[in-house]
Amino acid sequence: MVDIGRLEVCHKSVLPSGSYMRLALIKEGESLICNRCGSVSHAQEFYLPYKGTYYCPQCIHYGRLTTEDYLVWNEQSIYQPRKIDFQWKGVLTVGQQKVADRIITNYQSSNDSLIWAVTGSGKTEMIFPLIKHALKSGGRVAVCSPRIDVCRELFPRIAEAFPNEHPLLLHGNSEENYRFCFLTICTMHQLLYFYHAFDLLIIDEADAFPYEGNTMLMFASKNALKENGRMLFLTATPSKFLLNHLRTNTEILKLPRRYHGRPLPVPKLVWQNNWSNCQHFWFKRKLVELVDRLIDHSFVLIFCPSILYMHQLYKQLVGIYGEQIMTTVHSEDPNRKEKVQLAREKSFKILITSTILERGVTFEQVSVIVIGANHRIYTKSCLVQIAGRVDRKGNQRNGEIYFIFNRKTTAMREAIYEIKWMNQLALEERRDGL
Ligand SMILES: [Zn+2]
Repeated sequence: MVDIGRLEVCHKSVLPSGSYMRLALIKEGESLICNRCGSVSHAQEFYLPYKGTYYCPQCIHYGRLTTEDYLVWNEQSIYQPRKIDFQWKGVLTVGQQKVADRIITNYQSSNDSLIWAVTGSGKTEMIFPLIKHALKSGGRVAVCSPRIDVCRELFPRIAEAFPNEHPLLLHGNSEENYRFCFLTICTMHQLLYFYHAFDLLIIDEADAFPYEGNTMLMFASKNALKENGRMLFLTATPSKFLLNHLRTNTEILKLPRRYHGRPLPVPKLVWQNNWSNCQHFWFKRKLVELVDRLIDHSFVLIFCPSILYMHQLYKQLVGIYGEQIMTTVHSEDPNRKEKVQLAREKSFKILITSTILERGVTFEQVSVIVIGANHRIYTKSCLVQIAGRVDRKGNQRNGEIYFIFNRKTTAMREAIYEIKWMNQLALEERRDGL
C-alpha cells in the first residue's frame, strides 16, 4: 500500500490503482526534467541504450528514476482534530512568547514565517506551541534541518515534549525504518521521499550547508509541503540567498535577546601575520599564551580552517598540554559523537575542530578561538554561529571569542557588525520594556 504523502517509484507496467501519480522524468526535446529533484539534465548524456530509457543523474542516490517510472503517492483528505499530550513544562520569555503567538497566527492565516533569533535564544522551545497547534488540528508536521547533528539534537527534545506522538527520526543512517507518523524529524534530503505530505514544515538552521543555495533541496521542500501547507524557517544568520527565496507571504520575526538576557559576546581581533604556519615561533607563542589564559576559566574550542591544519596544530600543542586533556574532531571522524559528548562532560579541556561544530552544539563554560578567521571557509554566518557558541548556557559570564587573522575580510566585518546590531536591538527592546 502506498503511504500518505510518501513517494513510491513504480514502473509503468505495475502501477497501483487508486493513487495519485505523475511521470518521474519528462524528456522535452534535448532536456530531461526530473519531478522528484527538479533538476534539468542534458538527455543524451543519461541514456540507457540497453533499456531505451533515460535516467536522472542528480537524485540517483535516492533510487534511480527513468523515463519509464512513475512517482506514486496518496493524499490525506480528512482532517480529524486530535488530542495531543504535550509535556513541555518550561516557561517562555516575554520575547519568545510574542514570537510563539505570532507564528501560530501566521499558520492560521496561511502565512509563512521566518524567525531570525540570535544564537542561544531558545528557538526550539518557541516552536513547541505551533507544533502542538498543528498536530491538534489534525495536521502532519516535519521538523527538518540540513545538518544531521541538528536533527539528532532536536529529536530527543521534541520526543520528550510530545511523548504520545512517537516521532520518527529520519536521516541517511537512521536506525529506524520509515513508518507513518504525524511528527517527523528529518534531514532535508529525506524530503525527496515525500509529496504533499506535510501541513507544516519547519526548517531549522535554514542557512546551513547543504540547503543554502541548493535548488534540489528547495524543490524537495516545496514538494513535501501540501498545497496549502505552511513553512517556518529558523535561523540565527539568514543569508541573502535565503531572504531572496522566501515566499511573498513570509513574515520575518526578530528575536535579538538571548534566553538568559545577556548580550552576544563580540569577537576580539588578534592580528597574527603567520597564522597559516602553525609551527611558526611567534604564532605558537601567542596562541599558547592565549590558551593558557583561557584554560584557567574555560573549556577551549579552537576552530581551524582545514582538517590538515587541525592535525598539524594538534601535533604542535599536544607536546605542551598532553593528550589526556585535548583532542580533535572533524566531519569524517568515526568517533565524532563520542568525542563531543566527552567534551561536554568536561573530560577534555581543549577541543580542536573544523567548522563542523559551528552550530547545533552547546558547551558550558566555553571560550573560542578561530584561527585564520580571514580564510575563505569562514562566511559571515559561519563566524556569527561560531561566536554564538560562547556564553549560551549556565552562569559563567567570562567566556571569550577571538578571531586570529592577518587580513580583515568582508565576512569578518559583517559578522561583527551583525553581532553588535543584534545587541543594540536587544538593548532597545529592554528599554521599551519588552
Ligand atoms: Zn532527479
